[in-house]
Parts: sequence; C-alpha cells; structure tokens
Amino acid sequence: MLKITKKQRERWPRELILSEKSEELEEHLTLLNAEDRAAVERVSREVDSKIVEAARESVKELKMLEEGRCPVCSQKTRRFLFSTICEHCGWSGYSRPLHAKVVIHLRDGSALICEDVYHTPDELMCVTQDVVRYRVPRNVVAYVEFDHAEEDIRQRREQLAREEQGQCSWCMKPVARTNEETRVTFAAFGIYQERFLFCSIHCQTAFQKQYPTRIHRDCYHRDCSKCEECQKRFDDTSYETFLEEEFVH
Ligand SMILES: [Zn+2]
Ligand SMILES: [Zn+2]
Ligand SMILES: [Zn+2]
Ligand SMILES: [Zn+2]
Repeated sequence: MLKITKKQRERWPRELILSEKSEELEEHLTLLNAEDRAAVERVSREVDSKIVEAARESVKELKMLEEGRCPVCSQKTRRFLFSTICEHCGWSGYSRPLHAKVVIHLRDGSALICEDVYHTPDELMCVTQDVVRYRVPRNVVAYVEFDHAEEDIRQRREQLAREEQGQCSWCMKPVARTNEETRVTFAAFGIYQERFLFCSIHCQTAFQKQYPTRIHRDCYHRDCSKCEECQKRFDDTSYETFLEEEFVH
C-alpha cells in the first residue's frame, strides 16, 4: 500500500482541486479545433501579462508601505505594533503574531474564536490551522477582538526597536530610537532635508559645531515645518512625537 506522508496530506485538498481542474481543462482542449487553440494561447498570454501586472502592483504597494504611505490613496499611514492603518480611506494591513487569537463577537452575544480572520466584502473568514472554520456574514458581527499574547507584544516591540536602530552620526555607535538619550536633528545641507540620529546631546552638539548649516537656512534653530527652502523627506520633525509615534501605545 502507498504510504502518505503528513506533508502530502497537508497539500492534498489544493492538489485535488487543481488536478480535477486540469483534467477538465485537458478534456476541453481535445475538443477544440486549431482556431480555438490559437484563441486559448492568446488567453494564456493574457493571463501571463496579468500576472506580471499584478506583480508590478504588489511591488508598488510594498514601496508605498515602506515610505509610510497608503497603497490605495497615497496618504500617510499610521503604524502600530501589528497593524498599519490609513485613517483617510480605511485601508489596513495586519500581521498576525504567532500566538494570537481572534475573537469574533456576534450580535447575539456569542463569540467565535480562531487564529486568524480574513475580510471579504460580505463576510469574515475565521481561520484556524489553515482551515476556514467559519464564514461569518458581516451583518451578524458586533466587533472583532484581537487577543495578543504578552510575549508576542514584547517580541514585536524588540523587533521594531532593532529595525529602527541606527548609528550615531557623530561617534558611529549604534543608537536605538527608544533610548531616552537619543537625539535627532533635521537639517538640509543640499536640497533635501536629512535626518541625523545621535546617541547623546554631546554628540549632537559636536556634530552641529562641526557642520554649521548655511546661514540662510539655519536648520538647527528653526522649525522644519516653517521652512520652505528645502525638499521635505520627513513629515514628523518634532523630537517628542518622533519617539512617541511608534512606541507608546
Ligand atoms: Zn488610504
Ligand atoms: Zn554618539
Ligand atoms: Zn531645516
Ligand atoms: Zn529646510
């Protein structure tokens, strides 16, 4: 008898569906004449170019997200520990932590628990271990609760802190944005506004003494939001909000 590995079993359903479909396709193809076959080839070329187009779109989407912009409306997004949200158009992205539970509270007071939830225009798909357990019509949903393990939250904070880690622009020591001593300076030496991180106020002062910005710009002493002499690359230039924005929730 044929042995079936666990891995094969996991892949079963998808392969079953696909093999049924391709048998169907084979059957259809044998019924076609030459002219029809040419048409089929045209269709598969169209599919190819659609795939390329979709790939291009998702690269664009990623780039937009990297720049902190909404992939749908290009407005500035807000980034939280596990979610990125566009307040402007309602777009949101969510990355599920390892031990998360999602609780879908229904209008009748009952609740469904699953590992993950996917949204379609009409339904919420309640998924656990890659299986859609429930399809829940949106109109019966009261609210959705994300139950995150403390451990996941701690790990995510550490990960973000590592990603945000930079180098002191003066002494080259690594600096974390979360550190209280960390200082930031926005200044334009050329046409672009730039951001410099420092491990301490001493390094910041030393840097500013060494590299005075041109007198008419006077970046060190004035608010970037009131300056029109350089091209802005950072929306948020106040030190306090700079620290708060992504770490205090
Ligand atoms: Zn948007
Ligand atoms: Zn330093
Ligand atoms: Zn400036
Ligand atoms: Zn400026």
